[in-house]
Amino acid sequence: MELFGKVALITGSARGIGKAIALELANHGAKIVINDILPKNEIDKTLEEIRKSGDQAIGIRADITIFKEVESMVKEIINKFGKIDILVNNAGIIRDSLLIRMKEEDWDTVININLKGTFNCSKTVAKYMLRQKSGGKIVNISSVIGLVGNIGQANYAASKAGIIGLTKSIAKELALRNINVNAIAPGFIETDMTKRLSEKVIKDLQQQIPLKRLGTVKDIAKVVYFLVSDNANYITGQVINVDGGMVM
Ligand code: NAP
Repeated sequence: MELFGKVALITGSARGIGKAIALELANHGAKIVINDILPKNEIDKTLEEIRKSGDQAIGIRADITIFKEVESMVKEIINKFGKIDILVNNAGIIRDSLLIRMKEEDWDTVININLKGTFNCSKTVAKYMLRQKSGGKIVNISSVIGLVGNIGQANYAASKAGIIGLTKSIAKELALRNINVNAIAPGFIETDMTKRLSEKVIKDLQQQIPLKRLGTVKDIAKVVYFLVSDNANYITGQVINVDGGMVM
C-alpha cells in the first residue's frame, strides 16, 4: 500500500490504458479520480470496478481541452479529498491520414486533446501541488511515435513529441519543489484500437518488436506506478520507452 493516502487524477481513464493505470494505483492504496469525456454511465462502470478493491474513488466528466472545465474538476477534487498528489496525463486520440489529405480540423483536434489537454491539467494541478508544499508526481503518456514519427500520423507524432518537450520544461521548473515530471512512451499496446487490426498486421508488428509481442495495458500501468512511487523520487524529466525494445 505504498500509495496509501495519496490522491491521483488520471485523465481519459474510463477505459483502455488509463483504466489499467487507475486500477493499478488503486491496488496500491491511492484515492482515485477517474476523468473522461465519455458519458457518465461509462465512468460509473469503471468506478464500480475500482471500488471493488475497497478504495475511495470518484468520477468527473470533463473535457480536458477546456481550461475552465479542468479548473472546476481540480477544485472538485480539492473539495472532496483536500489535496492532489499525482497527475497522469493519459487522455489522447488519433485522427490518422497522410499530410496532404489531413484536414485542418484533424490537426487541431489531436493537438488540442493530446498536447493542450496535457498543458491545461499540468498547469492547474501544479498550482495546487506548489501550494500544498508536499511535492508531487506528474506522468505524461507520450508515444514512441513522438520519438520516431510515423506515416499518416503527423498530427499525433507532433502532439506526442510536444508532450516530451513540455515534460522536460516543467520538470526543470518544478524540480526545486520536489515535483517530479516524467513521460512514458508506449509502443504498440493491446487495446480496443489494436483489437481492430487484422491478424496479419499484428504478426507483422510483432516481427518488428524485439520482445515479439504487443504490450499490455498492465505493462504501462506498472511503469506509471513505479514513477509515482517513492522508488522514483530521484527520476525527473525522463522519457521511459515501454515498447518491447522497438525503439532503442
Ligand atoms: P482510449 O482507449 O481511446 O482511451 C482514451 C480515453 O480518453 C477515452 O475514453 C477517450 O474518450 C478519453 N478522452 C478523449 N478525449 C478526451 C478529452 N478531451 N477529455 C477527457 N477525456 C478524453 O486510448 P488508449 O489506447 O487507452 O490510449 C491512452 C493513451 O496512451 C493515449 O494518450 C494514447 O495516445 C497513448 N498511447 C496508446 C498506445 C496504444 O497502442 N493504445 C500506444 C502509444 C500511446 P473517447 O473514447 O470519447 O474519445
